[in-house]
Amino acid sequence: MAKAFSYGFYHSTAWANARESALIRDNHLCQRCLAAGEITPATMVHHKEELTPANIHDPNITCGLDNLVSLCDRCHKITHGWARGGATRQGLAFDSDGNLICLHE
Ligand SMILES: [Zn+2]
Ligand SMILES: [Zn+2]
Repeated sequence: MAKAFSYGFYHSTAWANARESALIRDNHLCQRCLAAGEITPATMVHHKEELTPANIHDPNITCGLDNLVSLCDRCHKITHGWARGGATRQGLAFDSDGNLICLHE
């Protein structure tokens, strides 16, 4: 989610270009789904090393293609662990690969 410190960056031309370059490199496909053999269009570009007020002015982190990966919405949520809270309350958990597993076999 965009935070105040990164608001300007996410509205910059530099980010628009870097985002586009990452999508082209990844063929507009979710790289996490692709690794699992699934073809899913990417809906966003994720920063592997999360942006912080300390690195927001470091172009290698903010726009370096090595730090960017195209993901679909679902994989992005899983990557950030946003889906975790709700699922674990129902006896579900994520393994180290981000796959949903049931704790009550
Ligand atoms: Zn995906
Ligand atoms: Zn992200």
